[in-house]
Amino acid sequence: MENKCKCIQDTLLDIHYKEAQWTERVSIHIAKCQECKGYWQRLGEMNEVMLAFDNNLIETDKGIIDQAFIDAEAIEKGKHSRMEFVMFMLIALVIIGFIGWLITIGYGSIILLQQVFLMMLIPFSLPIIIRQKLLKEGV
Ligand SMILES: [Zn+2]
Repeated sequence: MENKCKCIQDTLLDIHYKEAQWTERVSIHIAKCQECKGYWQRLGEMNEVMLAFDNNLIETDKGIIDQAFIDAEAIEKGKHSRMEFVMFMLIALVIIGFIGWLITIGYGSIILLQQVFLMMLIPFSLPIIIRQKLLKEGV
């Protein structure tokens, strides 16, 4: 786009919003330049669409607006879940590192014994976990 075209299109935009007057220079340029002529026509078409909205001839599609909000919430949730995942990884690394450190200073056999003991308790805790889950859901 020529610099003159940019200048004319700025003037056309001002004319469109009634901030400038139509001049001979604009008329001469539009008669010669297809790009600026198209720009002026598109401004006119846009005006028609905006008028249709103002007169409620075009109904606003609330489904599109609702979908945009749903998409925005999903993106926001995605950010949260990524942060939660990073936090989970950091906490898990700290715990694993702490256990690793305990093993290196000589508590390996005690930790192994505790793990075996906990594994044997899990089947007994399962009914309690299920009962709490059912109470929470209100069944
Ligand atoms: Zn032009």
